[in-house]
Amino acid sequence: VDYKSDIEPTWCAGCGDFTVISSLTKVFSELRIPPESIVQVSGIGCSSRAPLFMRTYATHTLHGRAIPFAIGVKLANPELTVICNVGDGDLFSIGAGHNPHAARRNIDITVICMDNQVYGLTKNQVSPTSREGLYGSLTPYGNIDRPINPVAQMLSFGATFVAQTFSGNPKHMTEVFKEAISHRGFAFVNVLSPCPTFNKVDTFKYYREKVKDVNSELPFLEYPLVKEKNINEEGHDPSDFKTALELALHDLDHYYNPNAPVPIGVFYRKEEETYEDRVSRVKERYKAVKEPTLELLQSFINACKPEAI
Ligand code: SF4
Ligand code: MG
Repeated sequence: VDYKSDIEPTWCAGCGDFTVISSLTKVFSELRIPPESIVQVSGIGCSSRAPLFMRTYATHTLHGRAIPFAIGVKLANPELTVICNVGDGDLFSIGAGHNPHAARRNIDITVICMDNQVYGLTKNQVSPTSREGLYGSLTPYGNIDRPINPVAQMLSFGATFVAQTFSGNPKHMTEVFKEAISHRGFAFVNVLSPCPTFNKVDTFKYYREKVKDVNSELPFLEYPLVKEKNINEEGHDPSDFKTALELALHDLDHYYNPNAPVPIGVFYRKEEETYEDRVSRVKERYKAVKEPTLELLQSFINACKPEAI
């Protein structure tokens, strides 16, 4: 099946987002998901053009609103594979309020953030993930804000799949996307996806020298939990939440310490009941009810407990 659309990508030559769509199309094909079963939802930004270049269903929504739109699509038809293609500005600035709620509800969608640490479409303003000191068109003296930590945030919000990858390593990215899309529940992947036009610091060369896969190569021995578990030889086990958080908390060390690695790989994965499961259970039980009572409320609460499945 050909997942490429007739529209030629309009990204600048060398943009990290090219490999994101080639990896995604490879994964759709390997997982044998027909194009008509996929809905890609984007916000606004360079990254949000991604669905245009693929032959799946797609919507280009408002800035920061891809997640609520995607939730609506998934609830209307849980059979669909729903993917959000968003950027760092989109997801962690104007749309940031949606992230904790989508994650804690464990709605079965995959959110792919093409994180270039800059606003590219509007021509070079610093974003929530820009490092301190980065120059932009509105920050001629350098960025005075500290960057947010996407991986640590999504872990703390309760996402049941959290990973980071690098668009300069398509093989790694394809594997991570495959796991994320196959995961039943809220999956978040932060893609370090350089913008060669505007961000001259966080480049392909920079990341190529620094990225290390937490699942297979671990030069992270100075981190207490990593040391304690001696996971240097075996690699990080994604079912271990504490170590996932420990690794994630060091994600931005490289901004301040030139010797620090950049962790990529699957930080965390957990099978858990999804939002759609809970909605269908509650719907089933109460479809006949017209008037709410105290007794009904109590049985509603009981029905929401996992042991009620
Ligand atoms: Fe890619 Fe940057 Fe060009 Fe946007 S401005 S298309 S992010 S290289
Ligand atoms: Mg960006």
